Amino acid sequence: MTKNLSLLILPGDGIGPEIMAEARKVIDWLSKKRNLNFIVHEDHVGGAAYDIYGKPLSDETLEIAKSVDAVLLGAVGGPKWANVSYDKRPEAGLLTLRKELELFANLRPAICFEPLVDASSLKPELVSGLDIMIVRELTGGVYFGEPRGIETLPNGERRGVNTQVYTTSEIHRIAHVAFDLAGKRNGRVTSSEKANVMESGLLWREEVTKVGAEYPHIKLDHMLADSCAMQLVRTPKQFDVIVTDNLFGDLLSDVAAMLTGSLGMLPSASLSHKGGGAMYEPVHGSAPDIAGKGIANPIATILSLAMALRYTYDCAPEAQLIEDAVQNVLRDGFRTADIMQPNKTQVSTSIMGDHILRAMDKLFKR
Ligand code: NAD
Repeated sequence: MTKNLSLLILPGDGIGPEIMAEARKVIDWLSKKRNLNFIVHEDHVGGAAYDIYGKPLSDETLEIAKSVDAVLLGAVGGPKWANVSYDKRPEAGLLTLRKELELFANLRPAICFEPLVDASSLKPELVSGLDIMIVRELTGGVYFGEPRGIETLPNGERRGVNTQVYTTSEIHRIAHVAFDLAGKRNGRVTSSEKANVMESGLLWREEVTKVGAEYPHIKLDHMLADSCAMQLVRTPKQFDVIVTDNLFGDLLSDVAAMLTGSLGMLPSASLSHKGGGAMYEPVHGSAPDIAGKGIANPIATILSLAMALRYTYDCAPEAQLIEDAVQNVLRDGFRTADIMQPNKTQVSTSIMGDHILRAMDKLFKR
């Protein structure tokens, strides 16, 4: 039976259109060979949307984003829009999407592909086989808490305030995402906060423990965020799923990302409640320094599409096919400039896409 999968593609700025063109090739391949009927809409976001619509996300684009199963986004931003007001900057388009689609769960896998094991700043034996999933709460915590601001005190001193705040329902819904994911992976959740010095951290720990009781088959442990950062670079393979708040997740996911070596390889997903919105995007930005040169690495975007297949479309075999194809292309020695190593073959963005399709062909025929 043919499956209908609705998707909004937003290539964005800089290298966005180049990397998205390669993801489109994969979508076309899946449509032809795997009986998946992608209903694809394409539109602008970020600076590209500002240039056309006068704002970084038009109301019409937002309506489409709300109506589809998933959004696949390239990247936004660039020096061209540096002097535009904050509410119209390219990044505002991204933030509006996150807010309007209620994307509260940010999933960032840190997977070390075997052929790139030497690209990590850690010893190969520490990262070989690494497969961690960081689940970061994305819409609460100190980045959004009130009161906030900078005020001038009567004595003339200035005072900056941000508020770390979480409610039980916010903690419960992100904890459920983490436990559900762990159930599909290696059955372990590490919850990270600063319960030793922050009341919001204590609440986080207590509430995650309560949710954990509903998942007796999942092993839960708690780790202070500073200790978690240290353990991530000491023995990263001890982790399966790490669940944490917005601020600590921001930091810990960047640490975990760098264990794998390259920004051009890292996908991400941002999810809402079950059946709600979902957005998939590479972790990297619009890389204006290399835009238009045909040398950007499209793998993070293609792996983001694989995440959409796994988490939104319930097409795990197709997601696995893409991930295996990427692994095989790397094993065969093909590299874009950012992951180039001695004695390997450097290829352009589009040739990398072609190699991935060829590898998918080979795996499919087996
Ligand atoms: P960046 O991720 O765009 O680039 C950092 C470095 O990594 C650059 O040297 C770039 O060439 C390289 N790089 C990134 N992606 C690559 C890829 N796929 N292949 C090969 N090399 C790659 O970060 P930046 O330079 O700090 O930011 C550039 C712009 O992107 C800014 O406007 C920033 O606001 C925006 N940005 C957007 C997002 C997003 O859309 N989610 C995320 C981060 C930054």
